[in-house]
Amino acid sequence: MRTILTGAAIAAFVAGIFLVRPPAVEALDDWACDLVGRLAGRGHLSGQVVIVEIDEGSITRFGRWPWPRDLQGLVIRRILNQGAATVVLDTTFNTEDRGIPSAIGNHEPPGSTNDDFIAAVIRGRPVVAGYVFRLDGAVSSPANCGLKPLPGSATGPAGSWETGFFHPSGAVCNVPQLAGAAMGAGFLNAAPDTDGKLRRLPLAMEYGDGLYPSLALAAFQMYRQVPAVQLRLNAREASRLRAGTQTVRLEDRSYMRLRFRGGPRTFPYIAAAKVVDETVPELRGKIVIVGGSALGLPNPVPTPAASQFPEVEIQATAIDNLLQGDPFHRPATVHLWELLLAVAAGVGTTILVARLRPWRSIPIVFCCAVGTWAGCAILLSHTGLLVSPLPLTAVVVFSLPAILLVNYGREKQRAESVERQMASERETARDVLRESEFRYRRLVENINDAIIVDDSEGRLVFANARFRDWFGLEGKDIRDMALEDYVAPEWREPLREWRNRRIAGESVPNHFEYQGLRRDASRIWIEALVADAVEEGKVTGTQWALRDITERKRIQAQYLQAQKMESIGRLAGGVAHDFNNLLQIINGYTEMLLEERPDAARYRTELEEIRGAGQRAAELTRNLLTLSRKEVGKPRSLDVNELVAEAAKMCRRLIGEDIELTTQLNPTPSIVFADSGQLLQILMNLVVNARDAMPQGGRIVMKTRNVGPDENFDRRAFVYIGVTDTGSGMNDDVKRHLFEPFFTTKERGKGTGLGLSTVYGIVEQNSGKIEVTSAPGEGTTIHIYLPRAAEDPEQRSVASGKSPAMKGSETVLLAEDQSSVRRYLRSVLEEFGYRVVDVANGPDALVLAKQFEGTIDLLITDLIMPLMDGRNLAEQLTAIRPGTKVLFMSGSSKEDIARRGMDTPDLVYLQKPFAPEELISKVRELLGSQAHPPGRAIGM
Ligand code: ADP
Ligand code: MG
Repeated sequence: MRTILTGAAIAAFVAGIFLVRPPAVEALDDWACDLVGRLAGRGHLSGQVVIVEIDEGSITRFGRWPWPRDLQGLVIRRILNQGAATVVLDTTFNTEDRGIPSAIGNHEPPGSTNDDFIAAVIRGRPVVAGYVFRLDGAVSSPANCGLKPLPGSATGPAGSWETGFFHPSGAVCNVPQLAGAAMGAGFLNAAPDTDGKLRRLPLAMEYGDGLYPSLALAAFQMYRQVPAVQLRLNAREASRLRAGTQTVRLEDRSYMRLRFRGGPRTFPYIAAAKVVDETVPELRGKIVIVGGSALGLPNPVPTPAASQFPEVEIQATAIDNLLQGDPFHRPATVHLWELLLAVAAGVGTTILVARLRPWRSIPIVFCCAVGTWAGCAILLSHTGLLVSPLPLTAVVVFSLPAILLVNYGREKQRAESVERQMASERETARDVLRESEFRYRRLVENINDAIIVDDSEGRLVFANARFRDWFGLEGKDIRDMALEDYVAPEWREPLREWRNRRIAGESVPNHFEYQGLRRDASRIWIEALVADAVEEGKVTGTQWALRDITERKRIQAQYLQAQKMESIGRLAGGVAHDFNNLLQIINGYTEMLLEERPDAARYRTELEEIRGAGQRAAELTRNLLTLSRKEVGKPRSLDVNELVAEAAKMCRRLIGEDIELTTQLNPTPSIVFADSGQLLQILMNLVVNARDAMPQGGRIVMKTRNVGPDENFDRRAFVYIGVTDTGSGMNDDVKRHLFEPFFTTKERGKGTGLGLSTVYGIVEQNSGKIEVTSAPGEGTTIHIYLPRAAEDPEQRSVASGKSPAMKGSETVLLAEDQSSVRRYLRSVLEEFGYRVVDVANGPDALVLAKQFEGTIDLLITDLIMPLMDGRNLAEQLTAIRPGTKVLFMSGSSKEDIARRGMDTPDLVYLQKPFAPEELISKVRELLGSQAHPPGRAIGM
């Protein structure tokens, strides 16, 4: 847009200047036209114009110019005699020559003068005489100057007369005798431009009321015998002269001037002396110019073509041009075309520069300008039409650099703005890069895995925060360190080998696990994911993502352990089941012996040993069963104080004499809702552990109290049970693993690692908490918190374990496949007064039931027996004897029974092993409450 505006502005400016045409522009335009004229070259001669030259030879023979009139007359006569069509005298006769003719001999009448002679020669002949108009303002009033007006008519607006012509103020007159004699006359005036150069010749001037022709026009008229000319004048347009069939086009504002064409021409020249000698060839049909200036000395005029242009030749040129109708002309319309051309050039240049690079547009524009000049010259030489290339040249010369400059400025501006934009984009890109780098760094640094990169020799190149943290490298230079420095010794070799094979291009797994070594010599299990570090297509090392899997490994190990434990548990459960039956007998009979046979005092110590071992065995099997079966137990409301007191009594037997066991019980009841057997189990386990921790003896204190609810501890109310010993205590490591199943520090055969895990399991089951305070050498306290429950004295008696011995006399049918157990049970029942009939299996029992006379009040049957299970037996037996109550026994847990599909809501069930009083109280419960008076209590 700016380009177009610039182009338009310059074109408009140039056009404006050429319309106004200040003098400097005028001069420049003249110069351009002169140049075009010279380029167009000289025109062709018509061959009709001849110059009679007063050359050096003629002057030598006939003396200095001007020659006497008789001699001039003689020359004219001879020329006319040679057949010349017109003689043009480029000279004035403004002084008289009264000399006596001598050159012509004495043929003329006496008394005649030289003027007389020449007048006689030219009178009535086609001779054009010259005179000079005066334009200097000094008015003269020639009465008869020999002026001969232009024949013909002139038309045009009145104003144009003023501007169209030179208006002379007077004339330099010829001698009247001669002026009257010549047939034609024309003025000799030339009119140089302001720079003194002659470019144009006036064709006619207005003087007084008439128009007067120039010498050239008068000669042309005479030669062509044109009787009249028509002149058209116009204020705006070029003036036009019509002479006969010929139209002479004149330049606008030219003062009726003819721009003559080309440089000085070389006309046929004839020496005047030869004319006098009559040695001249025929001049028929020629226009012969004779003049003083033909010598080359007077009246030389500078023209654009030559610095000195002899006037006779100017006249000859003008005549020749007129004859050929071939002068220059430059009408007003041409100016318009010139301007249009200039505007077109401006537009063209603008488009070119806008479209093309300067190094292309400049030569094109330059060629166009040169082409225009050549075109103008060609146009001129062929048509005589003069078109000035100057406006176009001016437009090109101004607009081209201006547009280039504007374009350059704009390009520069654009380049700068692009540069700025690019710079800002670079800046943004840098920011984005920095941002993303920061993000990546943060990601890599904060990630939970360790990330390292090492080079081909294994030296660390990069290690993120996690890695440095693991291996205590924070703030240290990691170069010169290798991953291997942080690998456990036994893993170094495999890792090195793996690395070597990898470098050798073998395919090795990218994923493996190894143990790392920390600075404090602790170990860390690491899972490594490895990839090649590639830079510019070359492997420069390896990059590692390392994950701490120590915890995972631990859990895995734990899981394996748990699996192992489960199978052991199952196995142990199976063994414990059978073992229980045996224990039942061992413990039962031992009890019986100790209670019943005072005569056995001799063996009392041994019997007590057996009872101790039996109790420990029962302990073990109970733990095993609890653990393997996840027994839930039968929770009831019970007073922990009573339970602890009971347990303390029982435990004193376990711990030996060198250990003192005391209780500090809460004075008010501490009721919990739990299974008494399980609680006893807890207390026994804790006491056994305490005993084991005090081989040299010590003290055990069992404490109970009510706790909470406490804002800080728990919102619930608890019953606290604490068992404190003065034993060896535990270190932190033991404390950490205390409650894990199978964790024991005791030698093989002594510890099972089941004690505390069972305790833990039970406490958890009862929504309680367990804690430990201990330090090596300072003893141990195990704290147990069980949720407190509301008091329920009804059931307390059952839970308290203080079941009264209840005698009976009813008949009991006992079905038990194992004879030893059968015998033991039988002895217990009989001891309490019951009548017992026993059988080894179901079918026998049915047979007996059919045959037995009298009532069978109760069937006690093992649930799982060969031939027929207890359930089946009970169904069939109650079908025969509907009044019979049934009590089932089993070494299996309730869950096992349910699994076998033998569980029903009405099932009354006793789980082995059980204490004698447990059996008796169950029996009493079933047979009704007509209790017999209490007898001896049976201890466990
Ligand atoms: P076990 O008694 O068969 O070893 P436990 O689960 O009962 O298994 O106990 C686990 C371990 O806890 C014991 O081996 C012992 O090292 C430690 N421990 C338990 N109770 C005490 C205690 N009162 N004093 C010192 N160490 C104890
Ligand atoms: Mg133990």
